Amino acid sequence: MITASPGARITPDGAPAGDWRQQWRDAVTDSAELLALLGLSALAGSLPPGDAGFALRVPRAFVARMRHGDPRDPLLLQVLPQLAELDAVDGFVTDAVGDLAAREAQGVLHKYHGRALLIASGSCAINCRYCFRRHFPYGEEIAAAGQWRHALDHLRANPGLTELILSGGDPLALATSKLQELADGLVSLPRITRLRLHTRLPVVLPDRVDEAFLGWLGSLQQRTVVVLHANHPNELDDAVADACAGMRAAGATLLNQAVLLRGVNDDADTLAALSERLFGMGVLPYYLHQLDRVQGAAHFEVPDARARELAEDLRGRLPGYLVPRLVREVAGDTSKRPL
Ligand SMILES: *Cc1c(COP(=O)(O)O)cnc(C)c1O
Ligand code: SF4
Repeated sequence: MITASPGARITPDGAPAGDWRQQWRDAVTDSAELLALLGLSALAGSLPPGDAGFALRVPRAFVARMRHGDPRDPLLLQVLPQLAELDAVDGFVTDAVGDLAAREAQGVLHKYHGRALLIASGSCAINCRYCFRRHFPYGEEIAAAGQWRHALDHLRANPGLTELILSGGDPLALATSKLQELADGLVSLPRITRLRLHTRLPVVLPDRVDEAFLGWLGSLQQRTVVVLHANHPNELDDAVADACAGMRAAGATLLNQAVLLRGVNDDADTLAALSERLFGMGVLPYYLHQLDRVQGAAHFEVPDARARELAEDLRGRLPGYLVPRLVREVAGDTSKRPL
């Protein structure tokens, strides 16, 4: 069995093992080590050279939820480099959403009415193989490079905006003190009544949701929405549930977005179980995304016809509020496009 970092352990540099930054640094970054931890060393010979150009990274708290000895484990498949990533497939490109250059250059994306999205941080605690980010390892903390000011200027200049979305990368990669600087800046903008966080950290490294963060979340003058990212019910253990309970107690509305991934969650039983598990933790399913057509991710794609069939199946077995909206992001559209 794999175990997460033991709770009471003190790490070599003195931080408690529960400290999220320490866990971030402790993440597994070696594919062979990951396979060894799972009793799958026999697979090491089929790894692509150089992790196919996108480093493996996975927090040990997430590894602990993988099934030992199962090469088809749905969590493992999301993070393990595959030879199939080296295949060139028509239509799968490095800039799948069409505006990554713009994202990187200025940090603020204002495409939809009433809400602006800020690339608050380029970092993630986990590297998901299907992500567009594999071709844009921004690396550094973008907000740290003066982007709060840029975002606040943009909000001030656009009176139609009422919501700010922090995205990335992962905005919870930022220190809570950095988030507090944003909150301070927003005090002069009462028009912004909603603050939204798009984050995978409460799922992959739930200790990120610590007292300081919950204090910050609870102190905000805006309505808060936290949109999590989990793709499979096995990602959601008791530690994630605790993190969600804390964020709910701090007043946040909790939603989830998932990506439809072949071999991971492309069956109705899994998607229904995901919705049920999320609801049990006080989280409503929001979007089910069709994959962005990113080079190296073609083996994850589920055909549209199959995706629609799955959505139909879910509608037949779940209450409407537990059925996520099946959407795709299309460059130039004014919202996510329903399938
Ligand atoms: C996805 C996205 C949003 C959020 O869209 P909602 O439908 O409100 O969840 C906002 N801005 C941009 C640029 C986006 O890509
Ligand atoms: S942005 Fe989201 S999907 Fe992409 S690597 Fe980070 S956590 Fe994974």
